[in-house]
Amino acid sequence: MKIIIIGSGLAGLSAGYKLSKSNEIIVFEKDEEIGGMTASYCQEYNGKEYFIEKYYHHIFRSDSELLTLIKELGLEKQMLWLKGTNAYFVDGKNYPMNTPSEILHFSPLSFTDIVKLGLLVLRIKTINNTTPYDRIRARDWIIAGAGKSVYENFFAPLMKSKFGDNAENVSAAWLIGRVKIRSDRGKEGEKLGYLRGGFNSLIEALSREITSDGSKIFKNKEVTEIIINDNKVQGVIIDGNLVTCDAVISTVEPRVLDALTKGKLENLHETLLSIRYQGTACALVGLDKRLMGDGNYWLNIKADVPFGAVIEHTNFMPVEDYGEHLVYITSYFQEEKDFHCVQKEEEVLESYLRGLEKMFPDFSRADIHWAKLFRRMDTAPVYEQGYLQRVLPFDVCLSGLYLAGMFSPTNYPERSMNGSVKAGFEAAKFLK
Ligand SMILES: Cc1cc2nc3c(=O)[nH]c(=O)nc-3n(C[C@H](O)[C@H](O)[C@H](O)COP(=O)(O)OP(=O)(O)OC[C@H]3O[C@@H](n4cnc5c(N)ncnc54)[C@H](O)[C@@H]3O)c2cc1C
Repeated sequence: MKIIIIGSGLAGLSAGYKLSKSNEIIVFEKDEEIGGMTASYCQEYNGKEYFIEKYYHHIFRSDSELLTLIKELGLEKQMLWLKGTNAYFVDGKNYPMNTPSEILHFSPLSFTDIVKLGLLVLRIKTINNTTPYDRIRARDWIIAGAGKSVYENFFAPLMKSKFGDNAENVSAAWLIGRVKIRSDRGKEGEKLGYLRGGFNSLIEALSREITSDGSKIFKNKEVTEIIINDNKVQGVIIDGNLVTCDAVISTVEPRVLDALTKGKLENLHETLLSIRYQGTACALVGLDKRLMGDGNYWLNIKADVPFGAVIEHTNFMPVEDYGEHLVYITSYFQEEKDFHCVQKEEEVLESYLRGLEKMFPDFSRADIHWAKLFRRMDTAPVYEQGYLQRVLPFDVCLSGLYLAGMFSPTNYPERSMNGSVKAGFEAAKFLK
């Protein structure tokens, strides 16, 4: 069979990997590099080249499909499990948040609130089925379970930095999924997985597997239409020309899919349009010195700065791997007209650097080797109340069209690399 895959993120490449041994696969990617959200920069410092993700990424212990894939591709020797410490910067003060005793010292909450927060987390750990929580707003559920102060002083700033103006509409199902994954710590605290050499190794290995049997991956090729006649896929339009095929797997954002199919997915048309995505503006800075001298990896922020988190990659991975310190500064945004999306790269970077100067008195611009910004609008669905009804099927009941991506059941109630790998595998099963 000749199968076209639209998008070379983990969903597309995982589907291609499963299908390329017995089919002719063509992957079309609109960007200049493959990997989608997990794409990397090839950076050079002091005569040394290395790969680093445009967006910070790590693996969780529960990512079984992704870990199996890494093993199958012979990348297991690159897998590291490392401690990634967390802190919460609230109104000028840094609060480490790794152990129960550190959390007890989180002074924006009273002792009673900390106990309520602890009980809420324990309750979340006992919940196995998030479905009943999809229709409840996280905000209401937290307030009912732990009180307004716990919501306002702990969860609200975190949710605001993740979902902006949509924070109040996010479902309790999302919150429960998120807290469960982050509180799965074991005795030694939370350990996060990372592939030494970066996730570029995974993307490259998948690409090699797909192309080794004659299948092809094309970059800078945007699919502008999926041609459907008599309820059957005929092919896709690339550069104004029809490329015919027997089947298409689409991994693109639902609204884009609706446009590509010209509304011909009538039964899904309303749903496709109702799934909102949010954007991310993530800066990566190469530095001479550590930014967070306490060795902290992940800092969530409640402060008057234009970003919601600072992630110091080289407080997680050894700095020797890169020869310089690497720090992500990141913000989610909700609309294309948002400052983070429309301003020039230099202006967004400037605003981020001013924010860093405000938060870290020892930070000096003289320590910057280089700074880059990566931003795009399609980085995550907004898991709003009632979102479960909108999760898209793998098989859309139209001959030859299958879907896999952040909108798939495997990425509910939170999208992840594992969820997209699994989505690619599931979509591939329909074509084996
Ligand atoms: C800031 C950030 C941090 C993250 N951190 C983590 C983490 O630590 N751990 C984790 O597990 N997950 C993390 N994720 C999530 C993870 O990256 C995604 O869930 C996963 O990579 C999505 O893969 P995908 O293939 O479904 O989608 P994508 O990677 O978005 O792939 C879709 C591809 O389709 C292409 N495309 C779109 N339209 C067209 C078109 N018309 N023609 C051709 N190509 C097209 C796009 O360019 C893109 O390459 C993070 C994501 C972000 C943004």
